[in-house]
Amino acid sequence: VAKGFRDVRNRFEGKREITEENIDGALKDIRMAMLEADVNFRIAKGFIERVKETALGEIVRVKAKAGEKVEVTPGDHFIRICHDELEKLLGPVDTSIMYSNPRLGPTKIMMVGLQGSGKTTTTGKLAKYLKEREGKKPLLVGADVYRPAAIEQLRVLAKRIDVPVHAREGGDPVEVCRESLKIAEEKGCDVILFDTAGRLAVDDVLMDELEMIVQQTKPENIFLVADAMIGQDAVNTAKEFNARLEVDGFIMTKLDGDARGGAALSIKEVTGKPIKFIGLGEDLDALEEFRPEGLANRILGFGDVMGLMDRFERTLSEEDAARAEKDAMRMLSGKFDFNDFYNQLAQISKLGSMSELMEMMPFGASMPEGAQVDDDDLAKIRAIIQSMTEQEKSHPELLTQQPNRVRRIAKGSGSPLEKVEQVIQQFNMMQGMMQQFSNMGGGFLNKIPGL
Ligand code: GDP
Ligand code: MG
Repeated sequence: VAKGFRDVRNRFEGKREITEENIDGALKDIRMAMLEADVNFRIAKGFIERVKETALGEIVRVKAKAGEKVEVTPGDHFIRICHDELEKLLGPVDTSIMYSNPRLGPTKIMMVGLQGSGKTTTTGKLAKYLKEREGKKPLLVGADVYRPAAIEQLRVLAKRIDVPVHAREGGDPVEVCRESLKIAEEKGCDVILFDTAGRLAVDDVLMDELEMIVQQTKPENIFLVADAMIGQDAVNTAKEFNARLEVDGFIMTKLDGDARGGAALSIKEVTGKPIKFIGLGEDLDALEEFRPEGLANRILGFGDVMGLMDRFERTLSEEDAARAEKDAMRMLSGKFDFNDFYNQLAQISKLGSMSELMEMMPFGASMPEGAQVDDDDLAKIRAIIQSMTEQEKSHPELLTQQPNRVRRIAKGSGSPLEKVEQVIQQFNMMQGMMQQFSNMGGGFLNKIPGL
Protein backbone atom coordinates (compact mmCIF):
# COMPACT_ATOMS: atom_id res chain seq x y z
CA VAL A 1 0.00 0.00 0.00
CA ALA A 2 1.36 3.35 -0.99
CA LYS A 3 1.95 5.60 1.94
CA GLY A 4 1.21 8.68 -0.14
CA PHE A 5 0.67 11.55 2.18
CA ARG A 6 2.92 10.32 4.94
CA ASP A 7 5.89 10.06 2.61
CA VAL A 8 5.14 13.43 1.15
CA ARG A 9 5.04 15.01 4.57
CA ASN A 10 8.38 13.50 5.43
CA ARG A 11 9.83 14.86 2.22
CA PHE A 12 9.16 18.38 3.36
CA GLU A 13 10.35 17.81 6.89
CA GLY A 14 12.42 20.78 7.92
CA LYS A 15 11.83 22.59 4.60
CA ARG A 16 10.52 26.10 4.75
CA GLU A 17 9.32 26.49 1.20
CA ILE A 18 8.39 24.55 -1.87
CA THR A 19 11.07 24.74 -4.51
CA GLU A 20 11.68 23.15 -7.85
CA GLU A 21 14.22 20.85 -6.17
CA ASN A 22 12.35 19.69 -3.12
CA ILE A 23 9.05 19.17 -4.91
CA ASP A 24 10.32 16.52 -7.30
CA GLY A 25 10.54 13.70 -4.77
CA ALA A 26 7.09 14.52 -3.46
CA LEU A 27 5.63 14.50 -6.96
CA LYS A 28 7.18 11.09 -7.57
CA ASP A 29 5.55 9.78 -4.38
CA ILE A 30 2.18 11.08 -5.46
CA ARG A 31 2.62 9.63 -8.91
CA MET A 32 3.42 6.22 -7.42
CA ALA A 33 0.48 6.42 -5.07
CA MET A 34 -1.81 7.20 -7.99
CA LEU A 35 -0.52 4.44 -10.21
CA GLU A 36 -0.85 1.95 -7.37
CA ALA A 37 -4.39 3.16 -6.94
CA ASP A 38 -5.12 2.24 -10.60
CA VAL A 39 -5.18 5.77 -11.91
CA ASN A 40 -4.44 5.79 -15.63
CA PHE A 41 -0.85 6.94 -16.21
CA ARG A 42 -1.87 9.72 -18.57
CA ILE A 43 -4.31 11.13 -16.04
CA ALA A 44 -1.64 10.86 -13.35
CA LYS A 45 0.81 12.71 -15.55
CA GLY A 46 -1.54 15.62 -16.21
CA PHE A 47 -2.39 15.74 -12.55
CA ILE A 48 1.25 15.91 -11.48
CA GLU A 49 1.90 18.70 -13.96
CA ARG A 50 -0.98 20.76 -12.65
CA VAL A 51 0.00 20.20 -9.04
CA LYS A 52 3.55 21.24 -9.79
CA GLU A 53 2.44 24.37 -11.54
CA THR A 54 0.09 25.37 -8.75
CA ALA A 55 2.51 24.49 -5.98
CA LEU A 56 5.30 26.55 -7.47
CA GLY A 57 3.08 29.41 -8.52
CA GLU A 58 1.16 29.79 -5.29
CA ILE A 59 2.57 31.74 -2.42
CA VAL A 60 3.54 28.81 -0.31
CA ARG A 61 6.67 30.12 1.25
CA VAL A 62 6.48 29.59 4.92
CA LYS A 63 9.10 31.63 6.57
CA ALA A 64 10.14 30.93 10.08
CA LYS A 65 13.14 31.74 12.13
CA ALA A 66 15.21 28.89 13.44
CA GLY A 67 13.50 27.30 16.44
CA GLU A 68 10.19 29.00 15.72
CA LYS A 69 7.13 26.84 15.47
CA VAL A 70 5.73 26.65 11.95
CA GLU A 71 2.07 25.81 11.88
CA VAL A 72 1.55 25.62 8.16
CA THR A 73 4.28 23.63 6.56
CA PRO A 74 5.10 23.36 2.88
CA GLY A 75 4.07 19.73 3.25
CA ASP A 76 0.59 20.82 4.35
CA HIS A 77 0.30 23.14 1.40
CA PHE A 78 1.44 20.55 -1.02
CA ILE A 79 -0.98 17.96 0.32
CA ARG A 80 -3.81 20.43 0.14
CA ILE A 81 -3.01 21.27 -3.46
CA CYS A 82 -2.97 17.57 -4.40
CA HIS A 83 -6.19 16.97 -2.57
CA ASP A 84 -7.98 19.93 -4.15
CA GLU A 85 -6.74 19.05 -7.59
CA LEU A 86 -7.94 15.47 -7.22
CA GLU A 87 -11.31 16.60 -5.95
CA LYS A 88 -11.63 18.75 -9.03
CA LEU A 89 -10.89 15.74 -11.22
CA LEU A 90 -13.44 13.60 -9.41
CA GLY A 91 -16.17 16.23 -9.42
CA PRO A 92 -18.52 17.83 -10.12
CA VAL A 93 -20.68 15.86 -7.76
CA ASP A 94 -24.00 14.65 -9.05
CA THR A 95 -25.48 11.90 -6.94
CA SER A 96 -29.01 12.69 -8.01
CA ILE A 97 -31.50 10.13 -9.15
CA MET A 98 -33.89 11.26 -11.87
CA TYR A 99 -37.47 10.75 -10.72
CA SER A 100 -40.40 10.48 -13.06
CA ASN A 101 -43.47 12.59 -12.75
CA PRO A 102 -45.52 10.38 -10.40
CA ARG A 103 -48.62 10.86 -12.51
CA LEU A 104 -46.86 9.29 -15.44
CA GLY A 105 -45.88 6.16 -13.55
CA PRO A 106 -43.04 4.87 -11.45
CA THR A 107 -39.39 5.86 -11.75
CA LYS A 108 -37.24 3.24 -13.45
CA ILE A 109 -33.63 2.49 -12.54
CA MET A 110 -31.76 0.04 -14.70
CA MET A 111 -28.62 -1.57 -13.37
CA VAL A 112 -26.13 -2.76 -15.96
CA GLY A 113 -22.62 -4.14 -15.80
CA LEU A 114 -20.46 -7.20 -16.16
CA GLN A 115 -21.19 -10.43 -14.38
CA GLY A 116 -19.95 -10.33 -10.82
CA SER A 117 -19.59 -6.57 -10.72
CA GLY A 118 -22.17 -6.34 -7.97
CA LYS A 119 -25.41 -5.50 -9.82
CA THR A 120 -27.72 -7.68 -7.80
CA THR A 121 -26.17 -6.72 -4.47
CA THR A 122 -26.24 -3.04 -5.40
CA THR A 123 -29.86 -3.34 -6.53
CA GLY A 124 -30.67 -4.52 -3.01
CA LYS A 125 -28.57 -1.79 -1.42
CA LEU A 126 -30.09 0.92 -3.55
CA ALA A 127 -33.61 -0.31 -2.83
CA LYS A 128 -32.85 -0.16 0.88
CA TYR A 129 -31.44 3.32 0.49
CA LEU A 130 -34.48 4.49 -1.47
CA LYS A 131 -36.88 2.95 0.98
CA GLU A 132 -35.22 4.12 4.17
CA ARG A 133 -33.74 7.42 3.19
CA GLU A 134 -36.04 8.64 0.46
CA GLY A 135 -39.28 7.09 1.64
CA LYS A 136 -39.82 5.31 -1.67
CA LYS A 137 -41.61 2.04 -2.35
CA PRO A 138 -39.30 0.01 -4.57
CA LEU A 139 -40.06 -3.00 -6.71
CA LEU A 140 -37.16 -5.23 -7.68
CA VAL A 141 -37.22 -6.87 -11.09
CA GLY A 142 -35.23 -9.99 -11.84
CA ALA A 143 -34.16 -9.47 -15.43
CA ASP A 144 -31.23 -11.83 -15.17
CA VAL A 145 -33.10 -14.93 -16.26
CA TYR A 146 -30.09 -16.94 -17.37
CA ARG A 147 -28.41 -17.81 -14.13
CA PRO A 148 -30.86 -19.87 -12.06
CA ALA A 149 -29.44 -18.58 -8.79
CA ALA A 150 -29.72 -14.94 -9.82
CA ILE A 151 -33.44 -14.57 -9.21
CA GLU A 152 -33.20 -16.46 -5.96
CA GLN A 153 -30.40 -14.13 -4.85
CA LEU A 154 -32.60 -11.14 -5.62
CA ARG A 155 -35.51 -12.66 -3.71
CA VAL A 156 -33.36 -13.25 -0.65
CA LEU A 157 -32.16 -9.64 -0.68
CA ALA A 158 -35.69 -8.34 -1.22
CA LYS A 159 -36.95 -10.33 1.73
CA ARG A 160 -34.32 -8.84 3.98
CA ILE A 161 -35.42 -5.33 3.18
CA ASP A 162 -39.07 -6.25 2.82
CA VAL A 163 -39.73 -5.12 -0.73
CA PRO A 164 -41.58 -7.00 -3.49
CA VAL A 165 -39.93 -8.75 -6.45
CA HIS A 166 -41.18 -9.38 -9.93
CA ALA A 167 -39.42 -12.21 -11.71
CA ARG A 168 -40.18 -15.23 -13.87
CA GLU A 169 -37.69 -18.04 -14.14
CA GLY A 170 -37.01 -18.73 -17.80
CA GLY A 171 -39.04 -15.69 -18.84
CA ASP A 172 -38.01 -13.19 -21.47
CA PRO A 173 -36.08 -10.39 -19.76
CA VAL A 174 -37.52 -7.65 -21.94
CA GLU A 175 -41.01 -8.95 -21.31
CA VAL A 176 -40.38 -9.26 -17.56
CA CYS A 177 -39.24 -5.65 -17.38
CA ARG A 178 -42.17 -4.41 -19.42
CA GLU A 179 -44.70 -6.26 -17.26
CA SER A 180 -43.18 -4.80 -14.14
CA LEU A 181 -44.48 -1.32 -14.98
CA LYS A 182 -48.04 -2.50 -14.50
CA ILE A 183 -47.16 -4.65 -11.52
CA ALA A 184 -45.51 -1.71 -9.79
CA GLU A 185 -48.69 0.30 -10.14
CA GLU A 186 -50.80 -2.55 -8.83
CA LYS A 187 -48.56 -2.91 -5.81
CA GLY A 188 -48.31 0.83 -5.21
CA CYS A 189 -44.58 0.92 -5.91
CA ASP A 190 -43.06 4.17 -7.11
CA VAL A 191 -39.54 3.02 -8.06
CA ILE A 192 -38.60 -0.01 -10.16
CA LEU A 193 -35.10 -1.40 -10.15
CA PHE A 194 -34.13 -3.68 -13.04
CA ASP A 195 -31.43 -6.16 -12.09
CA THR A 196 -30.20 -7.12 -15.54
CA ALA A 197 -27.95 -9.95 -16.69
CA GLY A 198 -24.24 -9.52 -17.14
CA ARG A 199 -21.61 -11.37 -19.13
CA LEU A 200 -17.96 -11.95 -18.48
CA ALA A 201 -17.20 -9.50 -21.27
CA VAL A 202 -19.26 -7.09 -23.29
CA ASP A 203 -20.91 -8.77 -26.27
CA ASP A 204 -23.55 -7.90 -28.83
CA VAL A 205 -26.14 -10.38 -27.65
CA LEU A 206 -26.15 -8.85 -24.20
CA MET A 207 -26.09 -5.30 -25.52
CA ASP A 208 -28.98 -6.00 -27.88
CA GLU A 209 -31.01 -7.29 -24.99
CA LEU A 210 -30.19 -4.33 -22.77
CA GLU A 211 -31.00 -1.95 -25.59
CA MET A 212 -34.38 -3.63 -26.04
CA ILE A 213 -35.13 -3.17 -22.36
CA VAL A 214 -34.22 0.50 -22.65
CA GLN A 215 -36.45 0.93 -25.70
CA GLN A 216 -39.39 -0.80 -24.12
CA THR A 217 -39.25 0.70 -20.64
CA LYS A 218 -37.49 4.05 -21.08
CA PRO A 219 -35.68 4.07 -17.74
CA GLU A 220 -34.97 7.51 -16.30
CA ASN A 221 -31.72 6.16 -14.84
CA ILE A 222 -29.20 3.70 -16.24
CA PHE A 223 -26.48 3.00 -13.74
CA LEU A 224 -23.36 1.14 -14.71
CA VAL A 225 -22.07 -1.00 -11.87
CA ALA A 226 -18.28 -1.31 -12.03
CA ASP A 227 -16.03 -3.43 -9.86
CA ALA A 228 -13.13 -1.39 -8.47
CA MET A 229 -11.08 -4.56 -8.12
CA ILE A 230 -10.70 -5.01 -11.86
CA GLY A 231 -8.95 -1.67 -12.01
CA GLN A 232 -8.09 -0.42 -15.48
CA ASP A 233 -10.21 -3.08 -17.21
CA ALA A 234 -13.26 -1.41 -15.79
CA VAL A 235 -12.50 1.57 -17.96
CA ASN A 236 -12.91 -0.24 -21.27
CA THR A 237 -16.05 -1.90 -20.04
CA ALA A 238 -17.47 1.44 -19.03
CA LYS A 239 -16.64 2.87 -22.42
CA GLU A 240 -18.41 0.07 -24.27
CA PHE A 241 -21.50 0.13 -22.10
CA ASN A 242 -21.75 3.87 -22.36
CA ALA A 243 -21.36 3.82 -26.13
CA ARG A 244 -24.35 1.51 -26.52
CA LEU A 245 -26.62 2.58 -23.70
CA GLU A 246 -25.87 6.19 -22.75
CA VAL A 247 -25.54 5.50 -19.05
CA ASP A 248 -26.47 8.22 -16.57
CA GLY A 249 -23.83 7.50 -14.01
CA PHE A 250 -21.88 4.74 -12.43
CA ILE A 251 -21.60 2.95 -9.16
CA MET A 252 -18.20 1.73 -8.11
CA THR A 253 -18.33 -1.39 -5.96
CA LYS A 254 -15.89 -3.28 -3.74
CA LEU A 255 -14.06 -0.22 -2.56
CA ASP A 256 -13.87 -1.91 0.82
CA GLY A 257 -11.17 -4.19 -0.52
CA ASP A 258 -7.62 -3.42 -1.53
CA ALA A 259 -8.67 -1.45 -4.59
CA ARG A 260 -8.09 2.21 -4.03
CA GLY A 261 -10.52 3.39 -6.66
CA GLY A 262 -8.28 5.16 -9.13
CA ALA A 263 -10.19 3.53 -11.97
CA ALA A 264 -13.09 5.79 -11.07
CA LEU A 265 -11.07 8.72 -12.35
CA SER A 266 -10.58 7.10 -15.71
CA ILE A 267 -14.16 5.97 -15.99
CA LYS A 268 -15.26 9.47 -15.25
CA GLU A 269 -12.95 10.90 -17.84
CA VAL A 270 -13.75 8.37 -20.54
CA THR A 271 -17.53 8.45 -20.14
CA GLY A 272 -17.94 11.99 -18.82
CA LYS A 273 -20.58 10.57 -16.48
CA PRO A 274 -20.71 11.15 -12.72
CA ILE A 275 -20.05 8.63 -9.99
CA LYS A 276 -23.34 8.25 -8.17
CA PHE A 277 -22.64 5.80 -5.37
CA ILE A 278 -19.85 3.67 -4.04
CA GLY A 279 -20.14 0.16 -2.60
CA LEU A 280 -18.14 -0.59 0.51
CA GLY A 281 -19.04 -4.14 1.41
CA GLU A 282 -21.41 -7.03 0.94
CA ASP A 283 -23.75 -5.74 3.57
CA LEU A 284 -26.94 -4.00 2.39
CA ASP A 285 -25.94 -0.88 4.31
CA ALA A 286 -22.59 -0.63 2.59
CA LEU A 287 -23.62 1.92 -0.02
CA GLU A 288 -22.71 5.57 0.13
CA GLU A 289 -23.42 8.57 -2.00
CA PHE A 290 -20.25 9.48 -3.76
CA ARG A 291 -18.19 12.29 -2.31
CA PRO A 292 -14.91 13.30 -3.96
CA GLU A 293 -13.05 14.00 -0.73
CA GLY A 294 -13.35 10.42 0.46
CA LEU A 295 -12.09 8.92 -2.78
CA ALA A 296 -9.44 11.61 -3.20
CA ASN A 297 -8.04 10.78 0.20
CA ARG A 298 -8.15 7.12 -0.56
CA ILE A 299 -6.36 7.44 -3.88
CA LEU A 300 -3.67 9.56 -2.30
CA GLY A 301 -3.37 7.24 0.68
CA PHE A 302 -4.88 9.45 3.32
CA GLY A 303 -7.65 7.06 4.32
CA ASP A 304 -11.33 7.66 4.05
CA VAL A 305 -11.96 9.47 7.30
CA MET A 306 -15.31 10.82 6.20
CA GLY A 307 -16.49 7.44 5.05
CA LEU A 308 -15.57 6.02 8.40
CA MET A 309 -17.56 8.65 10.23
CA ASP A 310 -20.52 8.08 7.96
CA ARG A 311 -20.49 4.41 8.69
CA PHE A 312 -20.27 5.03 12.40
CA GLU A 313 -23.32 7.20 12.15
CA ARG A 314 -25.44 4.65 10.40
CA THR A 315 -24.41 1.52 12.25
CA LEU A 316 -24.79 2.76 15.78
CA SER A 317 -27.97 3.55 17.62
CA GLU A 318 -28.66 7.22 18.25
CA GLU A 319 -27.41 7.01 21.80
CA ASP A 320 -24.28 5.21 20.67
CA ALA A 321 -23.85 7.76 17.92
CA ALA A 322 -24.07 10.65 20.34
CA ARG A 323 -21.45 9.00 22.50
CA ALA A 324 -19.30 8.16 19.51
CA GLU A 325 -19.46 11.77 18.44
CA LYS A 326 -18.39 12.93 21.87
CA ASP A 327 -15.59 10.38 21.83
CA ALA A 328 -14.55 11.47 18.37
CA MET A 329 -14.43 15.10 19.47
CA ARG A 330 -12.32 14.14 22.44
CA MET A 331 -10.00 12.11 20.28
CA LEU A 332 -9.75 14.85 17.70
CA SER A 333 -8.60 17.12 20.47
CA GLY A 334 -5.81 14.62 21.08
CA LYS A 335 -7.19 13.05 24.26
CA PHE A 336 -7.47 9.31 24.39
CA ASP A 337 -7.47 7.20 27.51
CA PHE A 338 -8.38 3.66 28.52
CA ASN A 339 -12.07 4.51 28.78
CA ASP A 340 -12.02 5.69 25.18
CA PHE A 341 -10.03 2.63 24.24
CA TYR A 342 -12.63 0.32 25.69
CA ASN A 343 -15.50 2.20 24.04
CA GLN A 344 -13.70 2.09 20.72
CA LEU A 345 -13.13 -1.62 20.95
CA ALA A 346 -16.75 -2.24 21.84
CA GLN A 347 -17.92 -0.18 18.88
CA ILE A 348 -15.44 -1.72 16.56
CA SER A 349 -16.57 -5.20 17.44
CA LYS A 350 -20.07 -4.04 16.61
CA LEU A 351 -19.09 -2.46 13.30
CA GLY A 352 -16.98 -5.16 11.78
CA SER A 353 -13.49 -6.42 11.90
CA MET A 354 -10.89 -4.17 13.42
CA SER A 355 -8.55 -4.54 10.49
CA GLU A 356 -11.32 -3.53 8.10
CA LEU A 357 -11.91 -0.38 10.08
CA MET A 358 -8.26 0.41 10.39
CA GLU A 359 -8.03 0.32 6.61
CA MET A 360 -10.32 3.30 6.54
CA MET A 361 -8.25 5.24 9.01
CA PRO A 362 -5.72 7.86 7.94
CA PHE A 363 -2.39 6.55 6.71
CA GLY A 364 -3.99 3.24 5.73
CA ALA A 365 -3.01 2.06 9.17
CA SER A 366 -2.83 -1.67 9.49
CA MET A 367 -3.29 -3.75 12.58
CA PRO A 368 -0.49 -5.98 13.74
CA GLU A 369 -1.11 -9.73 13.68
CA GLY A 370 -3.29 -10.94 16.51
CA ALA A 371 -4.77 -7.56 17.23
CA GLN A 372 -8.20 -8.57 15.98
CA VAL A 373 -10.84 -8.30 18.63
CA ASP A 374 -13.67 -10.76 19.06
CA ASP A 375 -16.27 -10.87 21.81
CA ASP A 376 -14.19 -13.26 23.85
CA ASP A 377 -11.22 -11.00 23.65
CA LEU A 378 -13.34 -8.01 24.43
CA ALA A 379 -14.48 -9.61 27.69
CA LYS A 380 -10.85 -10.17 28.69
CA ILE A 381 -9.90 -6.62 27.84
CA ARG A 382 -12.90 -5.38 29.77
CA ALA A 383 -11.74 -7.31 32.85
CA ILE A 384 -8.27 -5.83 32.49
CA ILE A 385 -9.53 -2.28 32.15
CA GLN A 386 -11.91 -2.78 35.06
CA SER A 387 -8.96 -3.79 37.21
CA MET A 388 -7.39 -0.42 36.64
CA THR A 389 -7.92 2.45 38.99
CA GLU A 390 -9.68 5.54 37.65
CA GLN A 391 -6.37 7.33 37.83
CA GLU A 392 -4.71 4.67 35.71
CA LYS A 393 -7.50 4.75 33.16
CA SER A 394 -7.18 8.47 32.64
CA HIS A 395 -3.39 8.58 32.99
CA PRO A 396 -2.27 5.50 31.10
CA GLU A 397 1.36 6.60 31.22
CA LEU A 398 1.39 5.45 34.86
CA LEU A 399 1.32 1.88 33.62
CA THR A 400 4.41 2.30 31.52
CA GLN A 401 6.20 4.07 34.33
CA GLN A 402 5.33 1.68 37.15
CA PRO A 403 5.47 -2.03 36.30
CA ASN A 404 4.09 -3.06 39.70
CA ARG A 405 0.76 -1.57 38.59
CA VAL A 406 0.73 -3.88 35.59
CA ARG A 407 1.37 -6.89 37.82
CA ARG A 408 -1.48 -5.86 40.11
CA ILE A 409 -3.83 -5.49 37.15
CA ALA A 410 -2.86 -8.90 35.81
CA LYS A 411 -3.61 -10.48 39.15
CA GLY A 412 -6.82 -8.55 39.64
CA SER A 413 -8.18 -9.41 36.22
CA GLY A 414 -7.00 -12.99 36.24
CA SER A 415 -5.06 -12.49 33.02
CA PRO A 416 -1.46 -13.43 32.33
CA LEU A 417 0.99 -10.57 32.55
CA GLU A 418 1.71 -10.83 28.82
CA LYS A 419 -1.95 -10.31 28.00
CA VAL A 420 -2.05 -7.11 30.04
CA GLU A 421 1.12 -5.92 28.39
CA GLN A 422 -0.34 -6.70 25.00
CA VAL A 423 -3.45 -4.68 25.77
CA ILE A 424 -1.32 -1.76 26.93
CA GLN A 425 0.67 -2.02 23.74
CA GLN A 426 -2.51 -2.02 21.66
CA PHE A 427 -3.69 0.97 23.61
CA ASN A 428 -0.45 2.85 23.02
CA MET A 429 -0.61 2.13 19.34
CA MET A 430 -4.17 3.35 19.05
CA GLN A 431 -3.39 6.42 21.14
CA GLY A 432 -0.46 7.19 18.86
CA MET A 433 -2.70 6.86 15.84
CA MET A 434 -5.34 9.10 17.36
CA GLN A 435 -2.69 11.70 18.00
CA GLN A 436 -1.45 11.56 14.44
CA PHE A 437 -5.02 11.71 13.29
CA SER A 438 -5.63 14.73 15.45
CA ASN A 439 -2.44 16.42 14.32
CA MET A 440 -3.21 15.93 10.70
CA GLY A 441 -6.95 15.58 10.24
CA GLY A 442 -7.79 18.41 12.59
CA GLY A 443 -4.56 20.10 11.72
CA PHE A 444 -3.74 20.98 8.22
CA LEU A 445 -7.07 22.10 6.86
CA ASN A 446 -8.06 24.66 9.46
CA LYS A 447 -4.57 25.96 9.96
CA ILE A 448 -4.30 27.19 6.43
CA PRO A 449 -5.05 30.89 6.40
CA GLY A 450 -7.95 31.91 4.26
CA LEU A 451 -9.46 28.45 4.07
P1 GDP B 1 -23.71 -9.38 -10.29
O1 GDP B 1 -23.28 -10.61 -11.01
O2 GDP B 1 -23.27 -8.15 -11.01
O3 GDP B 1 -25.16 -9.35 -9.98
O4 GDP B 1 -22.92 -9.35 -8.91
P2 GDP B 1 -23.41 -9.74 -7.45
O5 GDP B 1 -24.30 -8.68 -6.89
O6 GDP B 1 -23.94 -11.12 -7.44
O7 GDP B 1 -22.04 -9.64 -6.66
C1 GDP B 1 -20.93 -10.48 -6.90
C2 GDP B 1 -20.16 -10.65 -5.62
O8 GDP B 1 -19.60 -9.42 -5.23
C3 GDP B 1 -21.03 -11.10 -4.47
O9 GDP B 1 -20.30 -12.04 -3.72
C4 GDP B 1 -21.25 -9.83 -3.68
O10 GDP B 1 -21.46 -10.10 -2.32
C5 GDP B 1 -19.96 -9.11 -3.90
N1 GDP B 1 -20.09 -7.66 -3.77
C6 GDP B 1 -20.94 -6.81 -4.38
N2 GDP B 1 -20.71 -5.54 -4.02
C7 GDP B 1 -19.67 -5.56 -3.14
C8 GDP B 1 -18.95 -4.55 -2.41
O11 GDP B 1 -19.19 -3.33 -2.50
N3 GDP B 1 -17.94 -5.01 -1.63
C9 GDP B 1 -17.63 -6.34 -1.52
N4 GDP B 1 -16.63 -6.68 -0.72
N5 GDP B 1 -18.28 -7.28 -2.18
C10 GDP B 1 -19.28 -6.91 -2.99
MG1 MG C 1 -26.67 -10.58 -10.53
